Amino acid sequence: MIINKREIAGLLENLAKEYRVYAPVEKDGNVLLEVIEEGAEAALGAATKKPAKEILFPQSEELFSYQLSDEGLRMEDKIDKTKTVAFGIRPCDAKSMILLDNVFHNDQYEDVYYTTRRKNTIIVSLGCSEPESTCFCTSVGGGPFNTDGSDVLLIDLGEKYLAEAVTDQGKEFLSKLNLPEAGEEEKAEAEGIKKQAQATSEVDITGLKEKLDGMFEHPYWDRLHEKCLGCAACTYLCPTCHCFDIADEAKDKNGCRVRNWDSCMFPLFTLHGSGHNPRPSGKERWRQRLMHKFKYFVERYNATACVGCGRCIKNCPVNLDIRQVLAEIKAQDTGSEVS
Ligand code: SF4
Ligand code: SF4
Repeated sequence: MIINKREIAGLLENLAKEYRVYAPVEKDGNVLLEVIEEGAEAALGAATKKPAKEILFPQSEELFSYQLSDEGLRMEDKIDKTKTVAFGIRPCDAKSMILLDNVFHNDQYEDVYYTTRRKNTIIVSLGCSEPESTCFCTSVGGGPFNTDGSDVLLIDLGEKYLAEAVTDQGKEFLSKLNLPEAGEEEKAEAEGIKKQAQATSEVDITGLKEKLDGMFEHPYWDRLHEKCLGCAACTYLCPTCHCFDIADEAKDKNGCRVRNWDSCMFPLFTLHGSGHNPRPSGKERWRQRLMHKFKYFVERYNATACVGCGRCIKNCPVNLDIRQVLAEIKAQDTGSEVS
């Protein structure tokens, strides 16, 4: 199917009649994923500052509310069943949802808040014709036109997009939009663009998990964290990080339970009521962040919890670059070398 760029605004407005539509929008100097309101202009093609995980797992969400009265206790769940379209997100963000699926719906647990949103959300991603210098998706199993997690993939053909259905849900979605079919020439052009695309930086993670297996007590961690400020920007902005905290907010006889993003980079995250903290310094917290993404997640779900989006690199105030950290880890002597 073909979508002319000049028709995007009208298309999103029409979609907004049936769905809650998220798309990248320029706001206060940043590109953010926002719900499209009438007249809002999507900034398609730009990378969003915050990751698309917030569509399924919001930064702050009410889980349920309660009221106590003479009649007793009344509770209301806040499961969000709104039909949603995420339009124009990056393929790495779409792929991150596959990774998050493992966490929020597995053999032991289903997070109904996440899974309900997931079931009701159509993901329309936009391939990256020009990856940024901080991107390394191809090193972690993705790619600028990777379709993991997407229902529809858009390919930028200049004045128009070619829209390819990836899933049955995506096919059904596209069929409702009354779009013209793509011609053979347009399909060939799209294939050519896909073939040419490359992530701009490569990181060799072969054997990394095995390397980390022997590194828990390695002196490498002693220095790595020294300039880290513990601000947690790297984890808040990471599409695969999913730590959260739950709090009750109550006033008189009314209240609600809320879930908020949290971060393993904060000392408070692991502070016990006794005052003991098993991760007392940046050393243990940085080690945990790395180990979780490249060792524990691999052991638990057979996948690396990093999609190479580069947000942690772009937004770290002290320029700690995870690509460099991975390369340094690969170069460490652990006494049991891997190929
Ligand atoms: S660790 Fe960094 S590069 Fe990897 S997915 Fe998270 S923010 Fe992106
Ligand atoms: S963004 Fe940089 S300074 Fe902030 S917690 Fe992460 S590594 Fe540390």
